[in-house]
Amino acid sequence: MSGNPGPVRNLVIVGGGTAGWMMAAAAARFLNDGQRRITLVESDAIGTVGVGEATIPPILNFNAMLGIDEAEFLAATQGSFKLGIEFVGWGAPGERYLHPFGTYGRDLHGVAFHQIWRKLQGRPDVGPYGDYAMAAAAAAGARFAHPVADARDPLSQLAYAYHFDAGLYARFLRRYAEAHGVTRIEGQIATVLQADGLVTAVQLQDGRQVAGDLFIDCSGFRSLLLGEALAVPFTDWSHWLPCDRAWAVPCGRVDPLLPYTRATAQVAGWQWRIPLRHRTGNGHVYSSAHMSDQAALELLQAGLDAQRAGEPRQLRFTAGRRAELWRGNVVALGLAGGFLEPLESTSIHLIQHGIQLLFALFPDRGFATIERAEYNRLMGAQIEAIRDFIIAHYHLNNRVGEPFWDDLRHMAIPDTLTAKLALFRNKGQLFRYDDDLFGIPNWTAVLIGQGVMPQGWAALADGMDEERLLAMLAQYRQAYAQRAAGLPDHAAYLQRMIGQAPGA
Ligand SMILES: Cc1cc2nc3c(=O)[nH]c(=O)nc-3n(C[C@H](O)[C@H](O)[C@H](O)COP(=O)(O)OP(=O)(O)OC[C@H]3O[C@@H](n4cnc5c(N)ncnc54)[C@H](O)[C@@H]3O)c2cc1C
Repeated sequence: MSGNPGPVRNLVIVGGGTAGWMMAAAAARFLNDGQRRITLVESDAIGTVGVGEATIPPILNFNAMLGIDEAEFLAATQGSFKLGIEFVGWGAPGERYLHPFGTYGRDLHGVAFHQIWRKLQGRPDVGPYGDYAMAAAAAAGARFAHPVADARDPLSQLAYAYHFDAGLYARFLRRYAEAHGVTRIEGQIATVLQADGLVTAVQLQDGRQVAGDLFIDCSGFRSLLLGEALAVPFTDWSHWLPCDRAWAVPCGRVDPLLPYTRATAQVAGWQWRIPLRHRTGNGHVYSSAHMSDQAALELLQAGLDAQRAGEPRQLRFTAGRRAELWRGNVVALGLAGGFLEPLESTSIHLIQHGIQLLFALFPDRGFATIERAEYNRLMGAQIEAIRDFIIAHYHLNNRVGEPFWDDLRHMAIPDTLTAKLALFRNKGQLFRYDDDLFGIPNWTAVLIGQGVMPQGWAALADGMDEERLLAMLAQYRQAYAQRAAGLPDHAAYLQRMIGQAPGA
């Protein structure tokens, strides 16, 4: 396009679920220069998926970006702290491990901590890998405190995220966005109008038209603009991730209030448990090819820790993503761009990442191919790295004799994952590539947690004094346990914080 095409003046967000309101809040904060119009269209009749209650640590950056007060946020969303995910029965029935946030031990002279642990593993007093993470030690006692800055304090190695009520979170963001100048339009979109390969407006059932320069498709699984109107194809990953349905049902609050999500493997899928202050969120993600809807619901209800506190809801999905997430003047965020099951609580993060990347590559009305291509490349790389991480959980199971798990153990996995697992099995070598969300502590938590023990270790670890290393490990292990034992109870800590929240 020749000349200066001019700035985007009119931003239209289609959909008011978590994705839509996250985008609206961030746009209100960073794009509202007084000359730009930001409009969100949503339909009460269609509603939202209403799930999505567990997050990962980068959400702290999103809230900080918006200037959100943490105590106010937790008070408004009935939120709790999350130190990781406990996986139950993924290795073999009855086994459990925690994937904690934060780091394990400390690397030494460029040698990763897990390499040192692997070399000494099996010696008296070395103990399991999980004993070397501050977040795991705190989680085990249902304790919590904020990390500290002093690097000598083991608490500096803890990282955390939140659990919250998805409906309350969307309402919280809506209040924020509307207070910062976003206009909300209620109505059902019937038609998407286009000219020259660009979307020009959406038309509501009552005939009203909402015109825009840039459209953010947050319309959920239907993918109204990117998928339906622009026909961007869906890349299906269900051959690797066969779970395609979920039942979700809340039950009463359970004490102690655990500061972690639980993911329990079931016969044909897995069950989540998310502790909130006013209730517990539960869901059963399963493969409809391996289990009937009725059986899946019964299994979920039989496993509740407290009395049911609402009607069960069913959700249907296919694992995969749109081949492009930005085409022309349409960017898809959230479920409109694709879905990976919530095993590692990554969907809300992908919305946040998409928003941050869009701001970094924010177009003018020329919609340069180069910006779009970079967005699609970076988002694609991150989604595929997450996909591999989730597949690894399934593929590395030891649940022999259960058809669903047997199939997953024997399936062909992506080449990228094959290469990663081969390196790790050999000498525990792991690398974090370009835009990987999950780093070495995350991968080692899951791989070692599911019983993948490297045959050897890094050559550099052999050059180190073993006695000194053993003393170092003993000291770390003791320091994490002692520090954790002195931390406050999670529920009491929250109560104190929220009692001081503005408006609480
Ligand atoms: C079973 C399950 C569990 C999950 N758990 C987690 C989790 O623990 N952590 C996590 O990070 N993520 C989780 N997710 C993902 C998370 O729920 C979503 O990423 C998040 O809620 C975003 O949804 P959304 O806003 O894209 O879509 P939706 O919530 O579906 O919102 C779509 C919006 O578009 C509007 N809309 C659609 N069509 C029209 C139309 N024609 N006209 C007008 N408006 C329209 C709707 O009214 C709605 O407002 C989970 C998802 C599922 C399915």
